[in-house]
Amino acid sequence: MTKNRKQVMALLQTKNTAMSAYEVIAAMQQEYDVNLHPMAAYRALDFLLQMHCVLHLRTINKFLYIDGQQHCFWQVFICDNCRQIEKYPLPATIARPMLQHTGSAFQTKDLHIELHGLCKNCCDVPHT
Ligand SMILES: [Zn+2]
Repeated sequence: MTKNRKQVMALLQTKNTAMSAYEVIAAMQQEYDVNLHPMAAYRALDFLLQMHCVLHLRTINKFLYIDGQQHCFWQVFICDNCRQIEKYPLPATIARPMLQHTGSAFQTKDLHIELHGLCKNCCDVPHT
C-alpha cells in the first residue's frame, strides 16, 4: 500500500465517520500536512473500496471505514438531521435474500444498504 493510501485509511479509521473525498483532502492537510491531489484522493479511496476497507455511501457520496475482515455485509443508518452514521454487520443469512432474487440474474455489487432516518439524539429533541 502506498503512503497516501495508508494515511487515507488511517484517517477514515480514526475519524470514524463518513467523509467525502474533499473532507479527506482537507483532513490530510490538517493531520499530516499532505497536499493530496483530488485524483490521488479518489484513487486511494477506490483502492480502499476494492480492498473492502471502506464503503461508498452513495446516497450522501461519502466514504466510511469498515473492518472488512470479519463481516461481509453492512446495514448503514444515516441521520438526515445531523448526518451521524451507525453501521452494523448483517449476517449472511439475512443479507443473502436481499442481494439475490430467484428468477433474477441481477448481480448486486454493494456490500451494504443505506437507510435514512433520525438518530436517537435527533429523535429525542422536542420539536418546537
Ligand atoms: Zn441525528
